[in-house]
Amino acid sequence: KGSHKLSSNSYLPNDFPFRDRSQKGQENATMVMLVRNRELKGALQSMRSLEDRFNRNYRYPWVFLNDKPFDTDFIEQTTLMASGQTYYELIPSEDWEPPSFIDKDIMEEKLLKAHQDGVIYGGSWSYRNMCHFNSGYFYKQKRLLNYDWYFRVEPDVKYMCDFQYDPFTLLRENNKIYGFVLAIHDYENTMPSLWPTVENFMRDHKDLIHPNNSIEFITSNETSLNYNFELPESNTSYNLCHFWSNFEIGSLNFFRSEAYETYFNYLDKAGGFFYERWGDAPVHSIGLNLLADKDSIHHFEDIGYFHVPYLACPTSIDVLASKRCVCKTKDLENHDPETPHDIQPFSCLSRWWRYGSGKRFLNEIDYTF
Ligand code: GDP
Ligand code: MN
Repeated sequence: KGSHKLSSNSYLPNDFPFRDRSQKGQENATMVMLVRNRELKGALQSMRSLEDRFNRNYRYPWVFLNDKPFDTDFIEQTTLMASGQTYYELIPSEDWEPPSFIDKDIMEEKLLKAHQDGVIYGGSWSYRNMCHFNSGYFYKQKRLLNYDWYFRVEPDVKYMCDFQYDPFTLLRENNKIYGFVLAIHDYENTMPSLWPTVENFMRDHKDLIHPNNSIEFITSNETSLNYNFELPESNTSYNLCHFWSNFEIGSLNFFRSEAYETYFNYLDKAGGFFYERWGDAPVHSIGLNLLADKDSIHHFEDIGYFHVPYLACPTSIDVLASKRCVCKTKDLENHDPETPHDIQPFSCLSRWWRYGSGKRFLNEIDYTF
């Protein structure tokens, strides 16, 4: 009695008796992590950080998604780290691999070319599957159909401050559908034909564009600089701004809406997820900026977050103190910037403050529940 030893060929069931995993948070929400078995260490680090800073007080479940079956170690270790229930889901191959209308030979040529051209992750087949999945399939996975809200988590990230409130509740009570922390410029060479495709979509589906959209956040008349401080090559008017999607707290129902589905299918048919390397971050962002009310998108300025190479931290000293943030250390994989991200040139935050829902101050949001 009392010594529950882990055996090498079985894993802990969720009702393992030594911990009460019943949910305390009030929302129909889940953490979700797309991850590979070999990323176990990074997954545990992210989980530990988010559990300590937020979830152990709420015990929302964790849904793990993978294109390969999770192995015993992965299941066992992550179940031990989670405060709530854990679920391990195998992604159906038709949700992961390129659709049938993609020509695999052309795709191989494009991969080689992108690799030679130095496109980031340009030569990786699986990265394209991943971006395509995150753009159009994660929210349709069977397990996620049970939930209204998701919190996307990646391996090897850190949450730098206590949350002190339930971000799902904050979004719901303030009529928000999506929350982000970082907004940056993407690489133009990953998606030369994305914006022309989006322009066609807007022309063909005028009725789906929200009257209070935030298209000005992602388009510029002024000359915009990309991350390398070079002019974009094409004469696109997309300024490459997007919400950094490795952190997302949002409504699954937005992504499951007819508007987003029509938008995603339109992009998918154009082939750029596989013939180019369209990222899920610009695809999510553009979808949100066109199809959603800009006032339903929330910048979490009080959440501290690190994913290499960027750090987001609150600026208010009161917030830093009360949330016990760790923001000024220099040990974050040697990437810890001293300058707050929002005033760096590659940030799109100031653009969001101007053309999105404006710079909100903490007291404008209803934090009382
Ligand atoms: P980066 O953040 O753009 O550098 O890309 P990551 O390597 O962090 O990948 C983004 C997310 O997708 C992470 O959660 C990864 O664990 C996950 N991911 C990437 N490729 C694969 C894959 O082939 N299989 C699975 N299961 N997950 C993947
Ligand atoms: Mn990542």
